[in-house]
Amino acid sequence: MSTPFLPVTEQPVAVVTGGARGIGLAIAQWFLDRGHRVALWDIDAQTLARTERELALPDRVLAVPCDVSQPEAVQAATDRVVAAFGRIDALVNNAGVAVFKPVGQTSWADWRTVLSTNLDGAFLCTQAVAPVMQQGGRGGAVVNIASISGLRASTLRVAYGTSKAALIHLTKQHATELGTVGIRVNAVAPGPVETEMAKLVHSVAIRSDYHDVIPLERYGTTEEIANVVGFLCSDAASYVNGQVIAADGGFDAAG
Ligand code: NDP
Repeated sequence: MSTPFLPVTEQPVAVVTGGARGIGLAIAQWFLDRGHRVALWDIDAQTLARTERELALPDRVLAVPCDVSQPEAVQAATDRVVAAFGRIDALVNNAGVAVFKPVGQTSWADWRTVLSTNLDGAFLCTQAVAPVMQQGGRGGAVVNIASISGLRASTLRVAYGTSKAALIHLTKQHATELGTVGIRVNAVAPGPVETEMAKLVHSVAIRSDYHDVIPLERYGTTEEIANVVGFLCSDAASYVNGQVIAADGGFDAAG
């Protein structure tokens, strides 16, 4: 999937939500390293503007402030990418928020924030982008960033784990329907990765638990997650559809 020397209009285009930092930024870099043009959608306009400046690739990076939980904002962001780049080949639904609280302390507002970003966001973005992929006639790839918390239940994650489990099912629903028009939809379920989100919700106790139960005995890096996402978007995965790949150092396998 090495394409830097293609004419501009033939360079594939990837949309990465939550792409201003963390795992999303590493995914964006994976695509840029392979000659793609990339649209970064993120709710935080300041971080987004800083990331855009640091990437310093004005012809290949389009930064679009967008709250993925808002249907009008998602449609407007999609229209901006089509106007600027003319096509969309890959969509990575990476934008996410985490609230780790006991059931009794998880408020309705917590629940709505987590579900609307992690689940509604992926639904809305795929709904808006899939017709663009279909009209392009080249098919496309969607990757949803789930979590190991969507594969197994654990304390404090009633909203987060439920949102990610539902996202995994959404992946299979979309794969079943969109596969018939050449759009593959898969999910990656990362284990713990050192990002701003992890700094916010991984207490000392959680970190020590992870160290004890992950066979590789460490957190993953953003690049290790991006490599799996990139593979799923590439032609090397052309017959992979509706799957969830855990990138978790063996956490899930160890039970
Ligand atoms: P970060 O918090 O570092 O990055 C997430 C980005 O998404 C932020 O820039 C954030 O902006 C943005 N965002 C949040 N809400 C919205 C929204 N409504 N619309 C658009 N953008 C939004 O998180 P990570 O990089 O760690 O996480 C990326 C994904 O990976 C998430 O889906 C997360 O659940 C998942 N994941 C992370 C793991 C980890 O250990 N880090 C483990 C397993 C899965 P802002 O800062 O303003 O909120």
